[in-house]
Amino acid sequence: MNLCSNLPLADPSLPNLGSSYVLSSLKTIHLDGHFNFDNIYHAANDFGNRHHYLPLAILHPKSVSDISSTIKHIYEMGPATELTIAARGHGHSLQGQAQAHRGVVINMESLQGPKTIVHTGKMPYADVSGGELWINILHESLKHGLAPKSWTDYLHLTVGGTLSNAGISGQAFRHGPQINNVYQLEVVTGKGDIITCSETQNADLFYGVLGGLGQFGIITRARISLEPAPKMVKWIRVLYSEFSIFSKDQEHLTSFKNSFDYIEGFVIINRTGLLNTWRSSFNPREPLQASQFNSDGRTLYCLEMAKYFNPDETHIVNQVIESLLSELSYIPSTLLLSEVPYVDFLDRVHVSEIKLRAKGLWEVPHPWLNLLIPKSRIHDFAKEVFGNILRDTGNGPILIYPVNKSKWNNRTSLVTPQEDIFYLVAFLSSAVPSSTGTDGLEHILTQNERILDFCEGARLGMKQYLPHYSTQDKWQAHFGPKWEVFVKRKSKYDPLAILAPGQRIFQKATPFSWSRILA
Ligand code: FAD
Repeated sequence: MNLCSNLPLADPSLPNLGSSYVLSSLKTIHLDGHFNFDNIYHAANDFGNRHHYLPLAILHPKSVSDISSTIKHIYEMGPATELTIAARGHGHSLQGQAQAHRGVVINMESLQGPKTIVHTGKMPYADVSGGELWINILHESLKHGLAPKSWTDYLHLTVGGTLSNAGISGQAFRHGPQINNVYQLEVVTGKGDIITCSETQNADLFYGVLGGLGQFGIITRARISLEPAPKMVKWIRVLYSEFSIFSKDQEHLTSFKNSFDYIEGFVIINRTGLLNTWRSSFNPREPLQASQFNSDGRTLYCLEMAKYFNPDETHIVNQVIESLLSELSYIPSTLLLSEVPYVDFLDRVHVSEIKLRAKGLWEVPHPWLNLLIPKSRIHDFAKEVFGNILRDTGNGPILIYPVNKSKWNNRTSLVTPQEDIFYLVAFLSSAVPSSTGTDGLEHILTQNERILDFCEGARLGMKQYLPHYSTQDKWQAHFGPKWEVFVKRKSKYDPLAILAPGQRIFQKATPFSWSRILA
């Protein structure tokens, strides 16, 4: 089944209700917030800047009941309309996942109701809106000396948006992704029911929604686990020229408890004056040798680490860091150190965003590719991709770091490789609009295809993160043994396939033929 068109499988035996009927029917719903039928164009765009589907209307909800009434209304209209609903968090999807072609987009950031409420105590947590940005949760919880444990690299994303995927960053080796640091959710299902769920209450919905790509319900509130927040961060970078030594050190650091608090890494191919570029934010331990370090034409691997601390622990934390560094085999002259406030560290990507926006380079196409590669095949992957397919890394960063699945709850909908340790590899490219060169969209997309083809041909056991497929067969292959449960949950919580059409997993159809899909 080809899901590319994003249009419903119309049943000719049913009357197809026209859009003027649909529009006037939406206007009859009693709301605390409101619909917007005119100013809708921004909802047909996202961070990827490549897929554009115009909705019919945008709902600006003020309450959970606005969301529930709208879904109920559309559900009760049945399969005779093509109306679907997409929750839009901050619209930072890459391929139209938060869009709804001729449907209703719910602007989750307007959802009001109780603001973030922080609960202190032995197991502190924050109750937050599904449309809240992580940066706001950070600021609110810091007022109590607390903060969430697991992050994304960029904090201007919503709770509902990242929990629908996973939320992976350099803390995930220790705490698991963000979906493993949630105690409870409030969800509005595809039938409009408002359901509270957790590990012990409606657990099937709870685990389904976490990593569930928005398929089973709209997250309206979440209870996020917190920990005491540090004030400062020691932020460290070192370089390697051998992938095998780099990955051995990364795997070592992510294997024990009293390690760094954050571990990531990236690949740099053929960059001139690399260490000198980083000197605006980092101090080399050996300034003279660092200034002479030549990165031209080389493939280098940067291990990035952070250790949290409070000012009165500086002495001890320095000792711990020295001891951890002494176990590593990086190129000695490339050790770069920095000390920054905790908030600045977590919000680091926002600094780049401001710079890129000022140059008009933020709102360009972003043909990103995020992969999860099993540890046993990461060397094959690195050899082919960094040694052959890619010629440079000028189009954007390439992140690479291992995580340990034992910290990840496999009851969620998230799909990962089968091994205990796997690497997140993120190709975060920006394309220069209308360029036909190596920085243009076509070139980058072809490169992405080559990487995907290699993974498939070499049977690496790779899984896509923030997955994107255009046929149901490919989705089925992505989910593998989890597919049957995924489809059953869809038929239970969103039987008309109204929700998150932009993921293109299911199409709104006539009384949804679940048995056909499961067959
Ligand atoms: P949207 O794009 O608005 O929505 C994403 C999907 O979730 C859509 O299908 C939408 O319908 C659904 N959805 C949105 N809100 C809800 C809700 N309340 N309930 C149910 N479904 C909902 N990801 C990482 O894991 N780690 C990173 O370090 C990371 N860094 C990033 C950096 C940048 C600059 C960007 C642009 C993205 C990054 N991402 C990262 C990816 C990011 O997590 C996803 O793109 C995420 O979906 C964006 O959140 P959003 O609020 O913009 O969601």
